[in-house]
Amino acid sequence: MTNIDPAAPVLVTGGSGYVASWIVRYLLEDGRTVRATVRDPKKAKGLEHLHALAEAHPDRLTLHRSELLEPGSYTEAMAGCELVIHTASPFLLGKVKDPDKQLIRPAVDGTRNVLASVNDTESVKRVVLTSSVVAIYGDSIDMRGKDRFTEDDWNTTSTAKHQEYAYSKTVAEREAWDLQAAQDRWDLVTIHPGLVLGPALTKVSKSGSMATMDHFTDFTLATGAPAMELGVVDVRDVARAHIAAGFTPTAHGRYITNSESMSMLQIGKALRAKFGYRPSFPLFEAPKAMIKLAAPVAGLTRKYVELNVGYPLRFDNSRTVTELGIDFRPARDSVVEHFQQMIDDGMVRG
Ligand code: NAP
Repeated sequence: MTNIDPAAPVLVTGGSGYVASWIVRYLLEDGRTVRATVRDPKKAKGLEHLHALAEAHPDRLTLHRSELLEPGSYTEAMAGCELVIHTASPFLLGKVKDPDKQLIRPAVDGTRNVLASVNDTESVKRVVLTSSVVAIYGDSIDMRGKDRFTEDDWNTTSTAKHQEYAYSKTVAEREAWDLQAAQDRWDLVTIHPGLVLGPALTKVSKSGSMATMDHFTDFTLATGAPAMELGVVDVRDVARAHIAAGFTPTAHGRYITNSESMSMLQIGKALRAKFGYRPSFPLFEAPKAMIKLAAPVAGLTRKYVELNVGYPLRFDNSRTVTELGIDFRPARDSVVEHFQQMIDDGMVRG
């Protein structure tokens, strides 16, 4: 049982990110005081929504400069916090030039640095870490012999050369559990979202969520979608799950935070049902052999296609529903609202 003082400030790392921005907003709406870390609090673009939130909630939101790769960088902002929500980590999909530099070190060394600051900050009682379903499984083929993934499953197949982002999340989470086990002052709860979709408060996020939805506008799926399923979850439900994980005294362990699985074609169909025919929405699934042939052009490896196309993907989200009280929005609503925002923001024609 961990009781967090609702009057104590809450630290949110990566506060300007797609997911974290909703966490910050809901914490403020719940009456909490929030310290959000960002890489550059003076930057002209990308913090407007946080400045607006600070204005709407006087004296309850402050921004602090922190960098994942700088040891001690989070300590000052953490002083007096009982709850730390660590979301900061790069989410890059497709071909990444230098996975070690761009993904693995920020995720793993960053988690180590944040948790070293936690160890140095006597007030901290709980850490909520944003992990991912990709720390649960590596490739869809891992579903063979199972009817669904649960929190007991771990990704054992990703490496620094295959599914690099999944590898970065898995190693970072393992590191977090190891560091938690080495002491007994603070406990750890991990949140495992599928692909997060839905309206964004920030317009500049480079999250893989945005990159995935861009495929429904850039014609890469016009010649047929890969027969691939994704776990989909609404960004607002993910934010609420982090907060419930922080403030529910009995919360513990790992929580799969996923609404439903949707195939790329089902996402296309949901978009077509709402926005009408657009040539960039897929109308059918392409044969696996064709997807494999075209993989390098799309920034994918043939191995990735081999292990992920043509397999169902199912997750058991019951712990999050029953223990954290999340009533997941239907995935198709998140898809549609995400696309609507792309139209509203002028990224796609209406
Ligand atoms: P995002 O918008 O790109 O947010 C990532 C955040 O990490 C940004 O605030 C970014 O700061 C920060 N960050 C990256 N590198 C950093 C560094 N070296 N030092 C300090 N901060 C750094 O992506 P997101 O989708 O919200 O992802 C947030 C978390 O959710 C990540 O841990 C991700 O792995 C996890 N997750 C996301 C999804 C999804 O579908 N979106 C699914 C499962 C898990 P800047 O703003 O300064 O770049």
